[in-house]
Amino acid sequence: MKFGNKFDRYIAVIFFVTIVTVILASYLTLKDVINTHNKQVQSAITPLFSLVTSEILRPLGVANFMANNQFIIDYASQQAIEKDYIVTYLRKISDSYNMMAFIALEKHNVMLDSNGKESTLQSEDTEWFHRLKNLSGNQFSDIGNAQNPHLYFDNRIFNQQGEFIGFTGVGIDLNYFASKFQEYNDRFGFELFFVDENGVITLSSSNIMKSESLHRKGLITRLSDLPWHRSLIKNNQADASLSAEVMYTTEDGLLISQMPIQELNWRMFIVSPPAAHQNEYWKIFIGRFLLFLFIAIIFYLILLNSINYLKSRLIKHSETDFLTQLPNRSHIHWRFDDLAKANKNLCVVLADIDNFKHINDTYGHLVGDDVLRIISEQLSKTLRKIDVVGRWGGEEFVMLLPETTANQAHTIVERIRENIACISFPISTTSGSFSTTISFGICQLPLQDKTIEDYIEGADKALYEAKSSGKNQSVIFN
Ligand code: GH3
Ligand code: MG
Ligand code: MG
Repeated sequence: MKFGNKFDRYIAVIFFVTIVTVILASYLTLKDVINTHNKQVQSAITPLFSLVTSEILRPLGVANFMANNQFIIDYASQQAIEKDYIVTYLRKISDSYNMMAFIALEKHNVMLDSNGKESTLQSEDTEWFHRLKNLSGNQFSDIGNAQNPHLYFDNRIFNQQGEFIGFTGVGIDLNYFASKFQEYNDRFGFELFFVDENGVITLSSSNIMKSESLHRKGLITRLSDLPWHRSLIKNNQADASLSAEVMYTTEDGLLISQMPIQELNWRMFIVSPPAAHQNEYWKIFIGRFLLFLFIAIIFYLILLNSINYLKSRLIKHSETDFLTQLPNRSHIHWRFDDLAKANKNLCVVLADIDNFKHINDTYGHLVGDDVLRIISEQLSKTLRKIDVVGRWGGEEFVMLLPETTANQAHTIVERIRENIACISFPISTTSGSFSTTISFGICQLPLQDKTIEDYIEGADKALYEAKSSGKNQSVIFN
């Protein structure tokens, strides 16, 4: 049994080591994945910067260039203008730079664009004109055109006397930005926010089409409305420097990069969620780990069960006497140890078939084997469940009868002895039969500090006495 326990421990250790190895391997893999992810996030910020500079600052330059084109400004300042002439100019700009160009002139009460569209300054489309006119500053960015949102760069224009005469500038299609930003969002989970000097979000990646336009004041979203920004404010991290490139980390683990776009007086915020994603990773990891553990435990239990089943079969095989199917000596030894632990008294009986050699000699070994089998059946038939009977060797048997007095054992074995004496054993070669007898030696002792050898010694002495006093009898050792 000692071997059995060792084996169980061995299996448990193998399982434990396997589980630890798998967990460790998964953990390291996950760390690698997270590191790779973070590196990718970092490397993705660089192209984002160039996207911003090329796509936002370029139209700004074009708008500046138009506002400084003295020739067209002088032309526009005249009493009478030819609209077609101006539209041709705008169309040229539009074709060269691939963006919509416009001019709005107060004196002529007209707004013209490169698509040939013409509106008065009282129309709904030119609401911006009056709003921007009253603001301070010469350069504005504005999101307009609700159906097909554009980012407009409006520059104030003046005549030679320095009087305000209107605005000129360009508009870029925000759908292009929307798809670009979406790409970054899909790949890295980035969110982009463009914020003007008043803290109003002019563009965002999360919902660019509904991007808050000054046309729809009710929909304005301020930077301070965003939860991550609020958490920065709370920790006094945000706005430390409006014009600096800064990185913050919020309580939720969001990585916020602030990038000023000085030309516009804007700030761009990149909200990247490496840490939040990591939480996501860990959740997956823990989920998978629990599932794995669950399956591993089930496997372990199944394996343990199969092993125990195999073991019990093996033990049964190795501890059962093939001829009589009774427990053998080795089984009797550990059953004695079990009984010794659970009981105070034990009675051990040794049984020995009388003149067995004679049976073998007269009828042959096979008949002798039959006799052994039949007598084994007789011995086990009459005993209680807690009693143990086994083959001690040759034609000798042993019985362990816990909590049984010598006299009680005597009564039991006497009945068995009489039964056996009555059996007529068939002779396979002839049609005749014969009978045989058996002798018993009984030894009862209190279990404390006794070994099986002590009992066998006593029972053997009693058995010897039974044999020498004529066999076919039971004798109690004393
Ligand atoms: P006693 O009455 O004094 O016990 O005499 P005995 O002949 O029974 O005792 P002895 O020890 O002289 O002989 C036992 C015989 O049992 C000898 C051996 O050949 C035989 N024997 C032992 N194991 C087996 C077995 O498995 N099958 C058969 N057929 N005979 C066996
Ligand atoms: Mg013998
Ligand atoms: Mg014998």
